[in-house]
Amino acid sequence: MIATTQMSPLTQKYLALEEQYSAHNYHPLPVVLSRGEGVFVWDVDNKRYYDFLSAYSAVNQGHCHPNIIAAFIEQAKKLTLTSRAFHSDLLGEYAQYITGYFGYDKVLPMNTGVEAVETALKVARKWGYEVKGIEPNKAKILVCSENFHGRTLNVISFSTDPSSTTNFGPFMPGYEVVEYNNIAALQAALQDNNVVGFLVEPIQGEAGVVVPDDGYLAKAAAMCKEANVLFIADEIQTGLARTGKMLACDYENVHPDILILGKALSGGTMPVSAVLCDDEIMLTIKPGEHGSTYGGNPLACKVTMTALQVLRDEKMAENAAIQGEYLRSQLKALNHLNISVVRGKGLLNAIVIDHANKDAAWDLCLQMKENGLLAKPTHGDKIRFAPPLTITREQIDDCVSIIKKSLETLK
Ligand code: PLP
Repeated sequence: MIATTQMSPLTQKYLALEEQYSAHNYHPLPVVLSRGEGVFVWDVDNKRYYDFLSAYSAVNQGHCHPNIIAAFIEQAKKLTLTSRAFHSDLLGEYAQYITGYFGYDKVLPMNTGVEAVETALKVARKWGYEVKGIEPNKAKILVCSENFHGRTLNVISFSTDPSSTTNFGPFMPGYEVVEYNNIAALQAALQDNNVVGFLVEPIQGEAGVVVPDDGYLAKAAAMCKEANVLFIADEIQTGLARTGKMLACDYENVHPDILILGKALSGGTMPVSAVLCDDEIMLTIKPGEHGSTYGGNPLACKVTMTALQVLRDEKMAENAAIQGEYLRSQLKALNHLNISVVRGKGLLNAIVIDHANKDAAWDLCLQMKENGLLAKPTHGDKIRFAPPLTITREQIDDCVSIIKKSLETLK
């Protein structure tokens, strides 16, 4: 691979500022973006790129979608935050809208994805004690190997990734890891009557777009029901049309007991997350027992209703299904020596790079950047391809030629 990354003086200036003053908790590609529209972003030197990451699936609707931005601006001029000490004229309307949209009795609004995961886990434990009748402090939640649910201390307590956990202990008890995509392992773990919930990503995004076997989610959900255990789906990355259905669970007609959403709920404009479930579960939480200053703020409510409406009106799930299928077929047709796997659903896809050089995936991403496409490796050898859901067939063709051209430089 030829290291062709040239950095303009302007890019270098921004990189140096971050390096000096911002914590080093990420390792970004050396590109500095200043504008976005639809499937494209532009850097500070006005070079245009296809965005093949979509902010980890937070901009499913495309960058700066005009309807979402209009709703944002209009509401920002009226009222942005009341806290939950007072009512706003939008929370009720939003709650009605989103619960109707996904078919649940209630929503609990939060901000970031991990906060919604935390909320779901708290709600599941509360239900375990107050409805299922578990003895105090005995509740257990099953999670999957290679999971990713965020970065708080509680959530990393059940991570199996050393880079998430090393030197962050001690960890929160009450979790048991079962192998992902292993029905027998789940069945065995469900024998313990203290289990209150099973937390699962319908496709493991951060792990490198790991798609479980057909039928896994439906079987797992049925087994949880049988064992009186809550099936908790983290659709923060897979939901909101990304995988070709509104929810990835829809592929198997699974209606999770607790649904966790985030990222694209706001179309990439602000942190908005949500936990949805029915009254038997949600009403175990009483006033004063959980909350967030910004959760359910009027600006978020307005923006989220618009962002959800856009997904439906513009048939983004349908487009994701069609273009995703096409993208995978074109990537497979490249038949490239160094691509060992092409996998995914809808527009949540990954390739696995097979190369003697352990930095090959990173080098390929640098090369694709040079050629006008932004993607980022995960776990060393996997590269996620997840463009905004507005992408067209012609644009996919263009992207596949960029990928092909970039692959040619892999030595
Ligand atoms: N859950 C899943 C499946 C995710 O992919 C992510 C983020 O990538 C999170 C939770 C955490 O979301 P956030 O970064 O908004 O806290």
